[in-house]
Amino acid sequence: MSYKIPFNKPALVGSESAFMTDAIARGHISGDGYYTLACQALLEEEIGVTKALLTTSCTHALEMAALLLDLQAGDEFITPSFTFVSSANAFVLRGAKPVFADIRPDTLNIDERQLEALITPRTRCIVVVHYAGVGCEMDKISEIAARHSIPIVEDNAHGLFARYKGRSLGTFGELATQSFHETKNFTCGEGGALLLNNQALIERAEIVREKGTDRSKFFRGQVNKYGWMDLGSSYLPSDLLAAFLLAQLQQRDRIQLRRKEIWSRYWSALSDWALERDVQLPFIPSHCEQPYHMFYLLLPSLETRENLINYLKARGILAVYHYLPLHLSEMGQRFGGKQGDCPITEDISDRLLRLPFFIDMTDELQGEVIQAVLSFDEFETRSQAVRGFAVDSV
Ligand SMILES: *Cc1c(COP(=O)(O)O)cnc(C)c1O
Repeated sequence: MSYKIPFNKPALVGSESAFMTDAIARGHISGDGYYTLACQALLEEEIGVTKALLTTSCTHALEMAALLLDLQAGDEFITPSFTFVSSANAFVLRGAKPVFADIRPDTLNIDERQLEALITPRTRCIVVVHYAGVGCEMDKISEIAARHSIPIVEDNAHGLFARYKGRSLGTFGELATQSFHETKNFTCGEGGALLLNNQALIERAEIVREKGTDRSKFFRGQVNKYGWMDLGSSYLPSDLLAAFLLAQLQQRDRIQLRRKEIWSRYWSALSDWALERDVQLPFIPSHCEQPYHMFYLLLPSLETRENLINYLKARGILAVYHYLPLHLSEMGQRFGGKQGDCPITEDISDRLLRLPFFIDMTDELQGEVIQAVLSFDEFETRSQAVRGFAVDSV
């Protein structure tokens, strides 16, 4: 079925095709050409990371992280259960076992207060996901990780250009990953980046990304021949995609400003309605600068969410939910995951609903979404197993 108001449309700024045409004219459309280097330089400068490497996806950047940290069979890693599959699968590919952490009921980020109890002598990394681009409690998490000498990987797919206590997300972990999938704020269709904050990992990251060879060094004239040095795969994107991406990154202020307008309008139009109906809106701690990646509602029950989805659908509006708890997935259960392991995740997963959010959504269309939500009145007041958390400040 097609919707009058879809959930997402890829953000376009207009200069993408001209940049891609130029990439073709430059005669280098494989990886690491002019546009790849330009995107990486922009990311390094804006975020303040030592090195940024474009990748074919965020999933692949996470796979590179697992290779770089040498995860192996018998190792464990900690990841929130409330996240996209790749935050876990990339490490499971190396044979490691996921240990699922629950989330905070306010920011929906990994609950740092429960982190230490999940650490064992086998823990080889902690994956944090900055949900909706709102920073996890990195002070506490970094302190715990440092005390146990466990590297942090930030899955920052939602949080490009966001900050925690004034510092960019992506600069806290040993490694961090970005996504340029078409559902994210900046896109080239499919793409990603690996951010490195540890100089010592850069040379090997280039090798892992180039099929396990030192071809990057060869292109820089540092070696006469390139050869097979290590494990790796084909993780670098075509310069055509980098050209598309650079067009978007150069317009980052315009994209983010428009996203902020959309987010803020949802917020001001829906906060009274939400308050009166026990609907929770996104919580942004005052020390976090968010990237306006998504706008969600936490409805009182699963039934109410189903009712609202259908109500919006009848008005041509597509609203969607995610994530299904990873510990209860087919794969998660193979690792011993069971009902009750992550109660907040299980509860939130039933009640979260994301509203349409894309930069060329007109004010009229957004007004229609808002009016539809405001006129919805099919609330089920059935109380849930896990309800009534105070939104606690951090
Ligand atoms: C989108 C997303 C990914 C995967 O990104 P791809 O670029 O599609 O591989 C990983 N983690 C999170 C949290 C995401 O939202």
